Amino acid sequence: MKAFAGACICWLLCTTGFGQSQNCGTTTIMEQIYQTQPEVWERINTIRQQTLANTRVTDEIYVIPVVVHIVYNNAAENLDDIRVFTQINVLNEDFRRLNPDTINTPEPFSASGADIGIEFCLASLDPDGNPTSGIIRTYTDTTIWNLGYSEKVKKTAEGGDDAWPASTYLNIWVCDLQDGILGYAVSPGAPADVDGVVIDYKNFGLADVSSKPYDLGRTTTHEIGHWLGLTHVWGDDGGTCDGEDGIGDTPLQTNSTYGCPDFPLIDDCSVDYPGIQFMNYMDYTDDACMNMFTEGQKDRMRSVLLSYRASLLTSVAGCNEIEPIPGNLAELSIYPVPNNGQFTISVKNFAGTLGTIDFSIYNTTGQYISGASMASGNNVAQYADLSGLPPGTYVVTVFNGTYFLSKTFIIM
Ligand SMILES: [Zn+2]
Repeated sequence: MKAFAGACICWLLCTTGFGQSQNCGTTTIMEQIYQTQPEVWERINTIRQQTLANTRVTDEIYVIPVVVHIVYNNAAENLDDIRVFTQINVLNEDFRRLNPDTINTPEPFSASGADIGIEFCLASLDPDGNPTSGIIRTYTDTTIWNLGYSEKVKKTAEGGDDAWPASTYLNIWVCDLQDGILGYAVSPGAPADVDGVVIDYKNFGLADVSSKPYDLGRTTTHEIGHWLGLTHVWGDDGGTCDGEDGIGDTPLQTNSTYGCPDFPLIDDCSVDYPGIQFMNYMDYTDDACMNMFTEGQKDRMRSVLLSYRASLLTSVAGCNEIEPIPGNLAELSIYPVPNNGQFTISVKNFAGTLGTIDFSIYNTTGQYISGASMASGNNVAQYADLSGLPPGTYVVTVFNGTYFLSKTFIIM
């Protein structure tokens, strides 16, 4: 919220040295570019300064064609098409502010929560003009991609898969990144052959509970934020209040936030209510606890898209339609199994047409026990506390306006 001048050096150089977990490798990669390719770093910084000055000129909706390079060493890493579809759906919710958890944005911040007006689709034409699903699968002998060498994932000759032209596609590589790194991006201005984002396969799309708390596809939302010129909300300034993100409506913030704090959360840089905006996609909170970009971030991203990445707006890559994900591909799960009557019902790939998903619980004689209704989304969860019920088998049914799903479970 203060003048950005002088903070740009810090943006690139002051972030490392945090000994604790690090979710995002973007600053590390940018630091490597600073060390080894100063002319590229200069270009990135110039673009950053130019796009800072621009303001919004239109609210037109833009669509960016995507190619997903799945670079896998084993079956688990070779994510299926549905998983990719769920990621595209999450991006289209988050960047259009259609995500059902916007209701969790605290009231003081909700007015600045923005529909970015950018959508994503899987490309329908490859660089030669031939039809493609927009999903490329490449086997690799590489079992783990360490951040220092991970740009190799972008090179066929190095065991990865070459970028498609960055002027026409957003390249997303999905691979097994080193522990602690969920993903990373390069900033606008990086060379075309490394342009794009890299996401750990465990954190791509709607994942299972083993990927919690980074299981809802928001690593990709965050990294595409970087790719469109955003920096972390805390300013990457090594825990001080000197640096900031250059965005007018994100509060100053001391450092990254982990977990899922209660609102409000104040810190040394934002000592007054409403404190820091830890639910911003450009922080490090759990996927289930982030739910917003701001109007200021929207201006920055659209400025980058309309200037530096404008060729994407006239891309000939086309778009594949993602079929509405039908009920037979949806996942209904209950955990823990069995349970003591306190449990969570999770539904994925089951966004409905009526705006809500209805949960109902019955006993085995068909008697209705309890129910709830939630805003429809690709991934919703409902906690239930029925610990007063007698042990036995029960049935949960969910309805999205078109399809029913049901599953039995046991209360011990
Ligand atoms: Zn980041």
